[in-house]
Amino acid sequence: MAGRLIVVSNRIPTDSAPSGGLVVALHDALKARGGIWIGNSGKVTDSPAEGLTPIADEPYRRRSFDLTPAEHKGFYLDYANSTLWPLFHHRADLMTLDQDAARTYWEVNRKVARLIAAEAGPDDMIWVHDYHFLPLARALRLEGVENRVGFFLHIPFPNVSDVPALPENKYLPEWVAAYDLVGLQTVRDVSAAINVLRENGAEMLLKGRMKFRDRQFRLASFPIGIDVDDFAEAADAAGDADRTLRLDPGEKLVLGVDRLDYSKGIPNRFAAFGEFLRTGQPDEPRATLLQIAPPSREDVEAYRDIREELEEMAGRVNGEHAELDWTPIRYIRKNIPREILAGLYRRADAMLVTPLADGMNLVAKEYVAAQDGADPGVLILSHFAGAAEQLDAALMVNPYDIGDTSRAIRAALSMPEHERIARHLSLIAAIREHDIDWWTTTYLDALATAGTI
Ligand code: UDP
Repeated sequence: MAGRLIVVSNRIPTDSAPSGGLVVALHDALKARGGIWIGNSGKVTDSPAEGLTPIADEPYRRRSFDLTPAEHKGFYLDYANSTLWPLFHHRADLMTLDQDAARTYWEVNRKVARLIAAEAGPDDMIWVHDYHFLPLARALRLEGVENRVGFFLHIPFPNVSDVPALPENKYLPEWVAAYDLVGLQTVRDVSAAINVLRENGAEMLLKGRMKFRDRQFRLASFPIGIDVDDFAEAADAAGDADRTLRLDPGEKLVLGVDRLDYSKGIPNRFAAFGEFLRTGQPDEPRATLLQIAPPSREDVEAYRDIREELEEMAGRVNGEHAELDWTPIRYIRKNIPREILAGLYRRADAMLVTPLADGMNLVAKEYVAAQDGADPGVLILSHFAGAAEQLDAALMVNPYDIGDTSRAIRAALSMPEHERIARHLSLIAAIREHDIDWWTTTYLDALATAGTI
């Protein structure tokens, strides 16, 4: 019998009808191939269940593990989100370093490896997701697991000049080399990874393969995509955004949608919008920036700081430009459900996606999918989003350059229809070519043959 697929990710879908591109794609892959999904239950408890806890058996098996409060802090809050996340987003200045957290990170990986080793059959293929589990294959090999193990990193790979800031950097090559296939979002990430690994003793072979000590592995980029039709249909079905938002007829809407994270470049965006208003012409239609920014990781200090900074900036821009009947920046600190988001994307004349670093940025792709092809809005996209490698028909900006971004907002809002349509045609072709089905199939085919070609 062919082996099953075992997916490992930090979080695991708990309901029967999961939403979100990645979760749905993996759900479909597991349904088709049969298999098991293992992840953190989200439960933090002093007495974690021993072994894996069944969540569901149909249409595939889902199993979870619990973390103790000390594990949750050391593994998740501290090492994954306060050490690795900033380093991998080129913000070594925001890293917190703590030897206990580093130890707990490794111990949780060893614990999860033991649980997987007890579950995996000899022909099963294991697919590990993201920075929470970088050393998982290494821990699995220590348990004697020889199965094919793949990894996909959803965030950027760190720059070679930043890596020495990680005290555990000497382990990085053996963590990575324990996988058979390492998938990254972009070509830029692959070259960063090759640089880091070569600097640390790995050797380049042919066809994207590398060698470290006695292990050979493959590195390649697999840009993640979305279910394009699904988003287009949600945008068609969404209600009248003008009414929901109470916009005046003819008022321009500029939209930002990001988890509240310092990597997303929201302060730069507010500054650019302020500059756009300051340099406005009297005959220009009124433009409002709607920023949706649901909070995340509020237990981590850097996330509280960014929240305060943004509230202050929005207040300043609004103080300078607001009128009795108009607030230029509308800032919503709430998670907005996808059905409503799709309608906002459709209504927005321009979308600001201006991260300073971002693995992919699915919001950029969702915006493109949600447009009406006959009258599309304009995507303004940072060079530093992974999506920039495919979406180069967007208005590309340097998010550090406030003047550049402010001029792009003006160019987007006055762009002639024929240019908007031409850019949109190119963008929609790009997101269809690399959609979520392409991503899962291409990755799993590459993992199935890793080591044989
Ligand atoms: N999202 C949402 N509601 C919100 C804000 C975001 O459903 O209020 C979704 C958005 O549609 C997208 C995801 O969250 O699918 C964000 O993914 P992205 O790759 O852009 O950024 P990440 O948060 O993974 O860094």
